[in-house]
Amino acid sequence: MSNAEQTPSPSPQPSEQASSNASLRPTLPSQSRAPKDVLAEMQAMRGRDARWHDGRTFSLVYHDTDEHLQLLRDAYSLFLAENALNPMAFPSLRRMETEVVAMVAGLLGGDDQVVGSMTSGGTESLFLATKTYRDQARKERPHITAPEMILPTTAHPALLKSAHYLGVKPVLIPPGSDFRADVAAMEQAITPQTLFLVGSAPAYPHGVVDPIEALSALAQKHALPLHVDACVGGFSLPFVRRAGHPVPPFDFSVPGVTSMSADLHKYGFAAKGASTVLYRTPALRRHQFYVYSGWPGGLFGSATVLGTRPGGAIAAAWASLQSLGEEGFLRIAKTIMTTTHKLMEGIAAIPELFILGKPDCGVFAFASSGPDLMAIADQMEERGWHIDRQQLPTAIHLTITPAHAPIADRYLADLRECVAHVVAHPELSSQGAAAMYGMLMHIPDASMVDEFILSNFDSLYR
Ligand SMILES: *Cc1c(COP(=O)(O)O)cnc(C)c1O
Repeated sequence: MSNAEQTPSPSPQPSEQASSNASLRPTLPSQSRAPKDVLAEMQAMRGRDARWHDGRTFSLVYHDTDEHLQLLRDAYSLFLAENALNPMAFPSLRRMETEVVAMVAGLLGGDDQVVGSMTSGGTESLFLATKTYRDQARKERPHITAPEMILPTTAHPALLKSAHYLGVKPVLIPPGSDFRADVAAMEQAITPQTLFLVGSAPAYPHGVVDPIEALSALAQKHALPLHVDACVGGFSLPFVRRAGHPVPPFDFSVPGVTSMSADLHKYGFAAKGASTVLYRTPALRRHQFYVYSGWPGGLFGSATVLGTRPGGAIAAAWASLQSLGEEGFLRIAKTIMTTTHKLMEGIAAIPELFILGKPDCGVFAFASSGPDLMAIADQMEERGWHIDRQQLPTAIHLTITPAHAPIADRYLADLRECVAHVVAHPELSSQGAAAMYGMLMHIPDASMVDEFILSNFDSLYR
């Protein structure tokens, strides 16, 4: 199964929930409630939530300091009511958005020609990149009637989702043994229907940057666009490099890179609902825009997917970049890399465990050469850690932020004990979530696994 970012944990059977929920369906309160009572109830609800503030989660929350969090709250509240739907009405938001995009372009090796948009997240950024290439091809390469995107299997599923929505066929290529994109195999997959190529910087599962220079050469040789998905790495890799760690070229400084995505709400330490998508030229971005001039409600134009766009997310992103500055991002990168190396060395020192590949930043995964890793994950969860589980190969995934610096020793101590416990109790692999993952991974029919996820969703969102 996949990581906690996208996959629900085991939950009660749909039938159990259906019978108990039918009579308890919440209704709108008949009377207004006092704001303090509403807030108190919400505070109480948080009691069982994952403890991100104590560094107990990985990948879901990117936390720097409490002071920074308060700045995001203040900036978001200041523009809570404003709507970036109409770029004319709020020059403040338009200025912040264009400044954010320009700052990101500069960070990612872009020249003055590089333009882009702020979006609601990595998923929207990738959706727009796919849409842009599809619509560019409709105009400039009309022989493409059944468009295909070529991407490594390690690329984020949001790309597959965009392909699904937009009628593009994904051509998935397994990476090499180092988990980096297999450029020769990607070249083999190019056909006259190829719309664009994808590389990641880094790919989420193993934190390794694809060979972007080689992908760029390939793209240029075949006159194809190349999108680099730097959703997780865009605000980290530039500073990891400045902190003295080797980072391979991955951005607009590589000539064949035609577009990039970088999430503000990950290592940009902005509030949720903020990402960027960037293009090498304004002419390319043109294909992203949607316009319709025939509506009785007025001339309609929309730069991104959303209509109404929260001003708060733009304001908090701008505030984050202004407040941290190069100095803040560099401090964060140093903390992250120190913590990452401490954790990777501690994990590699446990004889049963090993790190997958050679991660390029604070994103990595480890696997087991013996004891059931999913049983180890269960034990870690009993100790209050929220674990991200991966498959193909089975692994535990970590996304390091400054919140993990104080807990790295505790994590390693717990991990050593959990490994020893599972070694002593191999029967644990047929209990708890480990049993479910073990069962799911041995189902040869992917559609049955899909059905399991779907029925889980039915019950989770009832
Ligand atoms: C997180 C992530 C995405 C998706 O971003 P969302 O903001 O969750 O929609 C895409 N690509 C990579 C590499 C990511 O890590």
